Amino acid sequence: MISYISTRGRSGEQGFEDVLLKGLAPDGGLFVPASFPSLSDGQLAGLSGKPYVDAATEIMVPFLGGAIGDSEFRALCAEAYGRFTHQAVTPLVQLDERLWILELFHGPTLAFKDVALQLLGLLFDHVLAKRAQRITVVGATSGDTGSAAIEACRDREAVDIFILYPAGRTSDVQRRQMTTVPSENVHAVAIEGTFDDCQALVKAMFADAPFRDDHALAAVNSINWARIMAQIVYYFVAAAALGSPRRKVAFAVPTGNFGDIYAGYVAGRMGLPIEKLIVGTNRNDILTRFFATAEMRKTTVVPTHSPSMDIQVSSNFERLLFDLLDRDAAVVTRTMDAFQSSGAFTVPPAAFTAATASFTAHAVDDRATEETIRDAFRAAGYTLDPHSAVGVAAARRAGLDPKIPIVVLATAHPAKFPEVVTGVTGVHPALPPHMADLFERAERLVTLPNDLKTVQRYVHQWARVGKARN
Ligand SMILES: *Cc1c(COP(=O)(O)O)cnc(C)c1O
Repeated sequence: MISYISTRGRSGEQGFEDVLLKGLAPDGGLFVPASFPSLSDGQLAGLSGKPYVDAATEIMVPFLGGAIGDSEFRALCAEAYGRFTHQAVTPLVQLDERLWILELFHGPTLAFKDVALQLLGLLFDHVLAKRAQRITVVGATSGDTGSAAIEACRDREAVDIFILYPAGRTSDVQRRQMTTVPSENVHAVAIEGTFDDCQALVKAMFADAPFRDDHALAAVNSINWARIMAQIVYYFVAAAALGSPRRKVAFAVPTGNFGDIYAGYVAGRMGLPIEKLIVGTNRNDILTRFFATAEMRKTTVVPTHSPSMDIQVSSNFERLLFDLLDRDAAVVTRTMDAFQSSGAFTVPPAAFTAATASFTAHAVDDRATEETIRDAFRAAGYTLDPHSAVGVAAARRAGLDPKIPIVVLATAHPAKFPEVVTGVTGVHPALPPHMADLFERAERLVTLPNDLKTVQRYVHQWARVGKARN
């Protein structure tokens, strides 16, 4: 039976439901399985040609530890992935002799985060209904994560969601994806301030213990184990389609918080033969520097063409670090404390050797991103979004044996980033049919000042938990 432990070692052993609802471990660490389940070569070979929902069920069930019955879980997967507009859910498209694009953007908000969040919303509802509980999800977004979280939580019986975004500072597509959802439990809140103000408001709401507890505040951020779990699936599905386990495959992943590529690492730990995991970063290259020097060192964030990867610290990296340091939670805690206080840490030689055996990393600037988009458009008639282009460029720089196919994870639809794409190709990328009327839909939002009390009053007024007090 699977159980979960914290990378900081002081949260005991927890089951899947608690890990799902808590997100972050109580000791400040991240939850990981106490040991990884594995798939046999026969199971791997059997994935080829299976419907996505069947493969997803088979791969994820071992992580549930019996918390949800197999057929119930299969029904949740069928509902989550039934909302994707491609029959294959995450189809593979060939770009050239050895590069394959794994399109992860056929979900409701056209970004790969839907793959995990669509399932997460249903899992929350399922577990909360069983416990007769409700939660209030609050989050801040600079654009992308907010809409994926809203689509995940809309119409969920046990969930109300409030997403704070900076008024006038998101793209029109991003804003409309958040404000045109007609569901009663969805609240798009434009804050008169910056993204940092929104984040500070959310942090302050979580820090206000009575408010947090009264409203059962919850987050759907990228450190939730269930999100990683859902992302493991497409590594197996893509590799099986390309001949795994007979043939090794490499993956190139446009990386920000290290969640998506860490899921690939877990697939490897579960038995998938992976030649290499290629990290693609933009100019915010903290990870690329780490895989070159063994030192993780914070710098300031610069804006790029691939905004969802503009990060200073990759929060999921701690999960890999835990394994690199032989699962010694005391050493992980010391290392993360040092990182917190000094902005840097270095891993010992054995850990670095282990890291570079599995990973290689490449930083791709905006110019190279544009060139890669132009190239794919000219040579293959294929339109890449800027994030996916970082993955393609990193794959080409990795210098792997040309016989090894490389699967590049395409994390966003090009129509999400029309300015950059149109500037390079001269062709405006069209929104897919299910979103073609986005600009005709009615918007629903509230604009609030950058003031904690006002925002809390609004949340209290509309959340369905927390009516007892005040
Ligand atoms: C979130 C995101 C990423 C980065 O994924 P991580 O799991 O944070 O590494 C890459 N591309 C797009 C489009 C994203 O939205």
